[in-house]
Amino acid sequence: MSPFTYHSEVALTSALARLAVPGQMPIGGGTDLLVTIEEGLAAPDGVVDVRALGELTGVGDMPDGTLRVGGACRLADIADDETVRARYPLLASACEQVGTPAIRAMATLAGNLQQRPRCWYFRRGVSCLKSGGTTCPARDGENQYLAILEGGPCWIVHPSDPAVALVALEAEIDVDGPSGPRTIAAGDFFVLPTERLDRETVLRDGELIVAVRLPAVAAGGMQRYTKLMQREAWDFALVSLAATRRTDGEVRLVLGGVSPRPYRVYTSVEEETMSGGLDEETIIGLAERALLDAVPLAKNGYKVELAATLLRDAIREIAAE
Ligand SMILES: Cc1cc2nc3c(=O)[nH]c(=O)nc-3n(C[C@H](O)[C@H](O)[C@H](O)COP(=O)(O)OP(=O)(O)OC[C@H]3O[C@@H](n4cnc5c(N)ncnc54)[C@H](O)[C@@H]3O)c2cc1C
Repeated sequence: MSPFTYHSEVALTSALARLAVPGQMPIGGGTDLLVTIEEGLAAPDGVVDVRALGELTGVGDMPDGTLRVGGACRLADIADDETVRARYPLLASACEQVGTPAIRAMATLAGNLQQRPRCWYFRRGVSCLKSGGTTCPARDGENQYLAILEGGPCWIVHPSDPAVALVALEAEIDVDGPSGPRTIAAGDFFVLPTERLDRETVLRDGELIVAVRLPAVAAGGMQRYTKLMQREAWDFALVSLAATRRTDGEVRLVLGGVSPRPYRVYTSVEEETMSGGLDEETIIGLAERALLDAVPLAKNGYKVELAATLLRDAIREIAAE
């Protein structure tokens, strides 16, 4: 592990000033950053602990009706938070299904969104597009856990469970940094390898995720996070689905584990699901249409069937309401 300095900041302005210096990285629970430093995937000169920044902590209502969750909130606390559980059970459930109790007790929401992908080649130091190489060894190699949608030239899947829930809830992400504060829709926050290979989100150097805001319109209704794993617990999703039917009737269906970013299905599928009263043939057809663009690699075709099963179950449940 390359040596680095550790700073803990209590004021947002001084944390941002420190992070504006090249070579500094924010650290939350350290459950991914320290591993990536050890693996040689990150080599910061210094890390800035952001967990004591007031702006990054707490869950509370905002004047605009959104529920604000600080970026440094721990996943275990979000999963247990009574307001989150009552209004946005999808997010509570996604946080509750992350890793192990020990991970959830350390991991922060912002760190979870910024965690690096789990592709075996990337993580084990094999030359690949993400590590600056010229080819993707996974394409014709061990690709059973990789993307079936939106892949190429690199086929990682985004590993975060909360990210899938946040896209379905149409959350907004407040960031701050050298160019000042900005707000990014969760649906625009994650990028494809065709846009950027060095990272998986639009966050720029020196920027910090300050908070996530959940819109009032997405509160309540039917909300479900379903995660399929190889092992029964403590694992990343093979495929997951965040499904919501809001109180205004709108439906959102977002898949995890299938694309380099949370994958929202065609709006036409969501709209038809909204109309309700669907027969079984239509439900099967809608799930198929949602996965029309799937291009599985040699070893991950099973993900298409897993995703179709999750979609059929969710569409059936929503349509029956
Ligand atoms: C055994 C194991 C199982 C796991 N299973 C799952 C799983 O099932 N589902 C899942 O979603 N995840 C899973 N994870 C990943 C885990 O959730 C992440 O490691 C964790 O959420 C990262 O949060 P952290 O606070 O520890 O981030 P850190 O490790 O501190 O940081 C991670 C990244 O985020 C950046 N960062 C931290 N805070 C901020 C901020 N405020 N603004 C901008 N950037 C920031 C850091 O610079 C770094 O790049 C698992 C991890 C392990 C080790």
